[in-house]
Amino acid sequence: MENLTPKLASANLATAPTTSIFERHDYLTEPTGYCEHCLNILHPNKDRYYSCEQCPSSFDICMKCINLMKTEHAPQHSFKKDNYSMNEAMMIHYNTSCDGCKTVNFKGIRYQCDECRESYDLCESCYQKRNNLHPNHNFKIVQSPLLRLNNRILLARRAIQVFKQFPNLQYDPVTGYTLNDAQQVKEQEEEKIESVLGTTFTRSKKGSGS
Ligand SMILES: [Zn+2]
Ligand SMILES: [Zn+2]
Ligand SMILES: [Zn+2]
Ligand SMILES: [Zn+2]
Repeated sequence: MENLTPKLASANLATAPTTSIFERHDYLTEPTGYCEHCLNILHPNKDRYYSCEQCPSSFDICMKCINLMKTEHAPQHSFKKDNYSMNEAMMIHYNTSCDGCKTVNFKGIRYQCDECRESYDLCESCYQKRNNLHPNHNFKIVQSPLLRLNNRILLARRAIQVFKQFPNLQYDPVTGYTLNDAQQVKEQEEEKIESVLGTTFTRSKKGSGS
């Protein structure tokens, strides 16, 4: 581990955040991505970045690394700026209603009471009024199933890239995954996302028809 520290520092991996990635507000509320070169975390819905127009799977590059792609990426490939189109279902909480305004399948951040045994949920605007609606209880953020799967898959893919660049590493510093963990998470969650995409699609079709 010691020998890797300078290398990791140059790859900006050593600047591990004090809060676990899995508890960070960005991770809980935004789609997560990463730069294929420096492997830094990106939030493609709000960060500036470039993506390759020719690579078969998504190949995103942060603003700091884009100039390196002239020499470090296939010269035949071209990059496009910020073309992320978010799957809206990532921000919709299907089969959940806000206990404040009673909106069903609400959009945005879902806050759930961390103390009540029965699920007590608030949408973003009702959360601002939590001191009147549900005083003295602490809330946590609950991701929509699709956002959760998406972000876990992206972090697992990123961890696999980390192990490719640093084969002697035991754990990915950002997620704490071993290579085996990362491969398992990727496989399991990719299987699940298929079925979630299937159900949300059916549900939204039903919803728009009624
Ligand atoms: Zn980068
Ligand atoms: Zn490419
Ligand atoms: Zn509400
Ligand atoms: Zn409560």
